[in-house]
Amino acid sequence: MNVGILGGGQLGRMLALAGYPLGLRFRFLEPQSPAPVDGLGEVVRAAYDDPDAVRRFAQGLDVVTYEFENVPDSTARLLEELLPVYPSAAALRTAQDRLAEKTAFEHLGIPTPVFHPVDSRDHLEEAIGHVGLPAVLKTRRLGYDGKGQAMIPGPTQVEEAWTALAGPPLLLERFIPFTRELSIVGARGTDGDIVFYPLVENEHRGGILYRTIAPAPLVSAAHQEQAQRHLRALMEAMGFVGVLALELFQKGDELLANEMAPRVHNSGHWTQDGARTSQFENHLRAVCGFALGDPAPHGYAGMLNLIGALPAREAVLAIPGARLHLYDKEPRPGRKLGHVNASGADPGEVRSILDRVEALLPEG
Ligand code: AMP
Repeated sequence: MNVGILGGGQLGRMLALAGYPLGLRFRFLEPQSPAPVDGLGEVVRAAYDDPDAVRRFAQGLDVVTYEFENVPDSTARLLEELLPVYPSAAALRTAQDRLAEKTAFEHLGIPTPVFHPVDSRDHLEEAIGHVGLPAVLKTRRLGYDGKGQAMIPGPTQVEEAWTALAGPPLLLERFIPFTRELSIVGARGTDGDIVFYPLVENEHRGGILYRTIAPAPLVSAAHQEQAQRHLRALMEAMGFVGVLALELFQKGDELLANEMAPRVHNSGHWTQDGARTSQFENHLRAVCGFALGDPAPHGYAGMLNLIGALPAREAVLAIPGARLHLYDKEPRPGRKLGHVNASGADPGEVRSILDRVEALLPEG
């Protein structure tokens, strides 16, 4: 089967690496060169909104999926006229726009921080009246890894936040003093079958995911069940096919949905070494119409992102229980260059492996 992937970053790279053992072949649409998928399949090097290139990309493919959700809607719709595209253009539209996403959460009864759209400076005052302070002002589109958001701790910081963002359409949401951040990843097949990975605990630094511990320690069965119910409701409402991730804030006993990602997710990278079937393989199984694989974890696992600069490879490889995954990207501040997965019998052992890797990270 020939699988087309929109985007040629590390997620595309890891999808291809998981798909070759299943006998799949890959073609990517990626504007940039070099790209992490170079050498892993044919790369159509063109802009996402170039219709001729999109048609050329689609030629001879059996299915198209993406690893990058900010693909223009017109591209997803054009591809849908030519061949099956999973997840659908409609699901992509919901996940691309924070207002559509939060509105979907509300309709499905999924608790989420109080929010209000902001279409002008005057609206911002109205939104503050509705949401209260402290709050977080976010761009409605193209936000990721904490980009496109500004904290408003109190009334004297409103102007600063307004000027920090590029302008409307924006969304204001209540700041949540969360206990911790969790996420859940699941996959839904073309036949509607769904598998869930366990809730994981995520630590962010500077708005970027830093570490994941899987399964999240001290999660109640009720929280796992609640998170699965929310993910299932979203998948079923969108007719979703593929991997969907839902990021959550835990505040005391409450779980609040922050955002969803309609693709394989950084907080699911641990599944490469810590689960019977990785999120990458399950995404491919889903979009290709195959049976989904067992998501059960082997013991405990963890993941540490390598951001901006890399530790010495030999030193990481010398740590028992650590597995290195590099993306073949040039180091640049704030750039995700790779990650290390760790496996252990308990969260303490996993943390101590990740601590040893962390000690190898270059300063800065
Ligand atoms: P996002 O781009 O929405 O995933 O936000 C990136 C990170 O910013 C989250 O993982 C949180 O650490 C933080 N954050 C976003 N929204 C809120 C909020 N409403 N309250 C508290 N922290 C937030």
